[in-house]
Amino acid sequence: MAKLVMVVDDSAVLRKITVFNLKKHGYSVIEATNGEEAIQKLSEGIKPDLMLLDIMMPKMDGFTVLKKLKENEKWIDIPVIVLTAKGGEEDEKSALSLGATKVMTKPFSPVQLIQEVKRVIGDA
Ligand SMILES: [Mg+2]
Repeated sequence: MAKLVMVVDDSAVLRKITVFNLKKHGYSVIEATNGEEAIQKLSEGIKPDLMLLDIMMPKMDGFTVLKKLKENEKWIDIPVIVLTAKGGEEDEKSALSLGATKVMTKPFSPVQLIQEVKRVIGDA
């Protein structure tokens, strides 16, 4: 069965590109447009093999999502690749201290993203 990646980002353009590339590499994808929507989908019982998580989002930001994942034993083992804006060294440190598996700084190429996805998800 295809592994499931949840893409959490308020940028429709970034989601579109990311979803396209993930699907091209055989992954199933579910999208959320902000942290609140992501947590809602997890609460409904969806359990992704990996989460790609933006930091700056309306309603609920990526840091809050990370905290909620680590507070819940059902979600604590979901690997998270955090996607930060350029110049966000502090964001990177914070995300890692909150339990992010990996932090990638935007912009990154589709090739880089898929490489990291495969590494974190165990397909590489
Ligand atoms: Mg954003």
